[in-house]
Amino acid sequence: MPLASQHPGRANGRTSSAIRSANRAAIVDVLRRNGRATRAELCTLTGLSRSTVSALVGELAARGLLVERPSALARSGGRPPTVLTLDRSGGLGIGIDIGVRHLAVAVGDLSRTVHAERWWSEPAGHSAPEGIATVLTSVATALREANAERERLIGAAVSIAAPIYAADQTIAEPAVLPGWTGAQLAEALAAELAIPVAIDNDAALGALGETIWGAHAGARSLAYIKLASRVGVGLVLDGAVYRGHAGLAGELGHLTVDPDGPVCWCGSRGCLELYAGGGAILRGLSGYDDDRGGLEAMIDAALGGDAEVIAAVRAAARHLGRGVAALVNLVDPQHVVVGGELSRLAPLLLDPMRDELARYSFVARSGEVAVSSSSLGRRASLLGALALVLTQPSRFGDGTAFHAEGVR
Ligand SMILES: [Zn+2]
Repeated sequence: MPLASQHPGRANGRTSSAIRSANRAAIVDVLRRNGRATRAELCTLTGLSRSTVSALVGELAARGLLVERPSALARSGGRPPTVLTLDRSGGLGIGIDIGVRHLAVAVGDLSRTVHAERWWSEPAGHSAPEGIATVLTSVATALREANAERERLIGAAVSIAAPIYAADQTIAEPAVLPGWTGAQLAEALAAELAIPVAIDNDAALGALGETIWGAHAGARSLAYIKLASRVGVGLVLDGAVYRGHAGLAGELGHLTVDPDGPVCWCGSRGCLELYAGGGAILRGLSGYDDDRGGLEAMIDAALGGDAEVIAAVRAAARHLGRGVAALVNLVDPQHVVVGGELSRLAPLLLDPMRDELARYSFVARSGEVAVSSSSLGRRASLLGALALVLTQPSRFGDGTAFHAEGVR
């Protein structure tokens, strides 16, 4: 005899409970991916009926997992729509940014509120064991500042200034951070905090950060140019970070400008980075060290009106603009955002870049590609790392899963 006819109530109950659970997960997914939504948007984005959305929103709110606030948007007549976000109790994420000479940690929740953000200077060339110990201590400090309960942590993502293989999250070019492999750090963090840990490229996360927190929040296609000593690119295409087959997409810095040019660290010759990066500008000038101090001194000199430095910066910007023209012809982004240390030079960089784009990219001429500097500044990759954790429900689970019969 079929089970259903023996215990019809239980069998039906189980089915409806599973459906309810799936519908609730769909609502939580939308809120994690979008940060906030009105009830009407939840209906559109989940395909659920208004009454189903209302019931599930009420259930989540009753358990303190969802917050409903009046919308800031004034509407003439009628009740203003309310905006829904997930509550802090749904989970906390950790974003970590490791540069060649800095370390930063941010802790935020599923409503996209940042509860703590700390930056430290790191000596150049730090070894992996030293670096990992420093990261663990720094994360503990940021978690204390955020009053973060360990059981609420859902994951951590680490931005590293190096190409990262997608398959095993290791650094494809260890020379960038000597001794680091990426995987060691992920293992150490996962062991310490008992949460999933992702390692990703700083430019890719910068692009994500710009589309979640920056002036271009919500943008579906954006190219983020990380312009410092080197040149990196992060891409958001069709609303998602594009990493390529192996994870190495965005190496615009190694576009060949001159096949007979100088040898690049990548093994090729005449790469764009050797003409457009901060290191290239420094090498063309005298009196500046080829390090971060030199880079900052050069930026200050350019902003201070030093004609020789300004000419070098403009020449680099024209090279970069031609490289970006190739990129725009290829992927047709809505926004090109210049970030990284050299974005402080945006007043000098952006116009030459736009001129070259107009000249060398018919896509830029016929489309509406907007070129701007990052509104997030040095925070772009850090906030992108945090965004990776907060917006990916399938990779970083949250605390909103419970059975209709009671919280587990
Ligand atoms: Zn190269």
